[in-house]
Amino acid sequence: MIDCDDRIRLDAYHDGELSPAERSDLEAHLRDCPSCAAELAAIRGMSGAFADATPREPSHEQLLELAASVRAEPSEARILLRLFRVTAVAAAVLLSSALAAAAYLSHRTEAAAHEAMVLDHVATGSQSLVLATDRAQWIADDLRGAQEER
Ligand SMILES: [Zn+2]
Repeated sequence: MIDCDDRIRLDAYHDGELSPAERSDLEAHLRDCPSCAAELAAIRGMSGAFADATPREPSHEQLLELAASVRAEPSEARILLRLFRVTAVAAAVLLSSALAAAAYLSHRTEAAAHEAMVLDHVATGSQSLVLATDRAQWIADDLRGAQEER
């Protein structure tokens, strides 16, 4: 029976995580269900193989080795963390300059609007570089005049 409900409890049984009542319940079921009995045997065989291949707890020396290797070459997670910090700093700088620019512009809205209008004229009106240069000179004169009026 592949879909036997008790199969999902076999791991818990094997690890000793079931209550005494659940244990005796499952043990009774194992006598009647060859599928679960085979599954439990497989789990026991697998954990036995694992126990042979690797120690269950890393030794003190292994932990020291692991710590040394982590310190020696930064893992990808550390690189990502560093990148994230740099990005966060850059974002903070950008944000503060954007706020500073916004504060500056709010004081200079009128002048900025005038400048934008003039720049728009240049963008749509200039046919050649010479013309644009002439207009730039005119704009510079115009802006100087506008500021002198204040
Ligand atoms: Zn079963």
